Amino acid sequence: MTKPKIVVLGAGYAGLTTTKRLTQQLSPEEAEIVLVNKHNYHYETTWLHEVAAGTINPNQARVMISDVVNPKRVRLIYDSVVKVKKDENIVVLENSEISYDYLVFALGFESNDFGIKGMDEHAFAIEDMDSSRMISEHIEYQFAKYKTEENPDENSLHILVGGAGFTGVEFVGELAEKVPELCQKYDIDRSKVRIINVEAAPSILPMFDKDLVEYGKKSLEDRGVEFRIGAPISECTPEGFVVGDDKELIKAGTVVWTGGVKGSSVLEASGFELTKGKVNVDADLRMTGENNLFVLGDCSWVWNKEEDRPYPPTAQLAMQEANVAAKNIKSLIYNQPLEDFVFKSKGTVASLGTTDGIGSVFDGRKLQGKAAAAMKKVVDNRSLFLIGGPKLLLKKGKVRPF
Ligand code: FAD
Repeated sequence: MTKPKIVVLGAGYAGLTTTKRLTQQLSPEEAEIVLVNKHNYHYETTWLHEVAAGTINPNQARVMISDVVNPKRVRLIYDSVVKVKKDENIVVLENSEISYDYLVFALGFESNDFGIKGMDEHAFAIEDMDSSRMISEHIEYQFAKYKTEENPDENSLHILVGGAGFTGVEFVGELAEKVPELCQKYDIDRSKVRIINVEAAPSILPMFDKDLVEYGKKSLEDRGVEFRIGAPISECTPEGFVVGDDKELIKAGTVVWTGGVKGSSVLEASGFELTKGKVNVDADLRMTGENNLFVLGDCSWVWNKEEDRPYPPTAQLAMQEANVAAKNIKSLIYNQPLEDFVFKSKGTVASLGTTDGIGSVFDGRKLQGKAAAAMKKVVDNRSLFLIGGPKLLLKKGKVRPF
């Protein structure tokens, strides 16, 4: 038998975990493994709101891939994927092409503006390391500019966040912490800065119980976050959002859209059949109708049979999928039956800044305040541990004091 070639696209939660599991399950004689990623580093996507607010150093959220994957065992290619030609078993990269016997497609998410006019042009998005860092630098620039201009625009210190789902709320939680720090640094009165979170739905954080949502909203409001709930955004202009039936223009110097995501645009470029921006996969995590193509994480929908709807996209889901995908690739190589994926939820925790949060854990217990914030750090640190063991945890782990 010739040695099969497994190509993994994306070194995020799904791709990196699949690669690590494959190296544990298959010897170099059994399979060649190739990992393709845009950059030479992995980043913790679940920490990007902190990078965007400037509450952590971007380097803390970034891990060199060669520090956690053995380059002697896995061929590392740092390049951008352009498209997959699945009928020819070829991946087209910006600078070359690569063939495969088995493919794992795990290129994550991109922002989805749902066609809202001007959103793509005028709003920032928390999508990756660079886009997130740009937001924190832009916010700080607004403070510096305000301080140095003779007649500064009062709106320039307003920060407008579209979407009050997980990312939007976690982001305004970090901003509530960062803004007083910036006010002190630039000697600006806190009352001049507004943090406004706009949401079309009737509530923030729809995935949590009502009492936790009430707690979270009040906690953020007490720290100066303004919510505009039930207020659909019809347009984003260079000045801000146009909101509600009366088309009110809310002006701000920083405008960030967190209201929606879809799978990587490489899915569409590859001509894959999409359902709401992602592909459907079967229970064994292969794209429906394909024998050798696994699509994981934020790029696919996996059906939750119990609740008759897809599992919500999370890092937890992506990592669990990776474990099953790696096993199933080995089974395919040895003509063994494949395993069906079943998600085991360990709960969900949302941070509201460093020392506050809300969450529900696997046994149904609800958490709020410092207990939830502590649990969030446990979750974040666990992710680092799974990727790089105790060494990485010691180097990048979250041990911020309460
Ligand atoms: P990612 O982890 O995003 O990885 C995708 C990888 O592909 C990246 O390395 C990227 O550089 C690479 N890539 C992309 N395009 C290309 C290309 N064309 N060529 C080459 N490489 C490419 N989930 C939770 O479970 N808990 C949370 O608390 C939580 N908080 C979140 C907070 C924020 C701010 C955000 C944005 C998301 C959060 N999520 C959370 C969701 C979670 O981060 C995603 O579901 C998860 O990252 C999906 O993993 P993935 O492997 O599919 O993609």
